[in-house]
Amino acid sequence: MATPVQQNLIAKNKSYAANFRQGNLALPPAKKYAVVTCMDARIDPAAAFGISLGDAHVIRNAGGSCRAALRDLVLSQQLLGTTEILVIKHTGCGMLTFKNEDAMAVVRKNLGNEAVWEVGAFLNGDFLPFGDLEKAVMEDIEWVRSSKLIPKSIGVSGWIYEVETGRVRRVA
Ligand SMILES: [Zn+2]
Repeated sequence: MATPVQQNLIAKNKSYAANFRQGNLALPPAKKYAVVTCMDARIDPAAAFGISLGDAHVIRNAGGSCRAALRDLVLSQQLLGTTEILVIKHTGCGMLTFKNEDAMAVVRKNLGNEAVWEVGAFLNGDFLPFGDLEKAVMEDIEWVRSSKLIPKSIGVSGWIYEVETGRVRRVA
């Protein structure tokens, strides 16, 4: 028995595949760039950021964190030839709403002490929340620029998407 979410997938994919005509695209992104943005359900990267199928890597995680996306960025650049990164965080981000100790308390309560140990071991004890949106973009960009895994030749810019208006503005 399929869940409602599974039923939606099956039904919507059926009509999508019926009209699908782009099965011959190359693996490397045609426009050689990667977007790092948040997993927030209110963001439609393809539509809002003008990304056509096959153009770019879209790497999504909580907060649109380049640190959390480092593995993906290295693979994107070294194996698949991207040369530019757009970092796009957004207004109303969930990462503005808690501190590490809050998240840790919830993990401890719901998942137990061994799970807390895993947060330390695999996440360096850091869920990467932030208190100031523009500052978070700047810090993320500085972090990317200082990483030995990201060549100096890679272009990096920082942006904020407004979930209230659909507009994007440059901050770095
Ligand atoms: Zn967010």
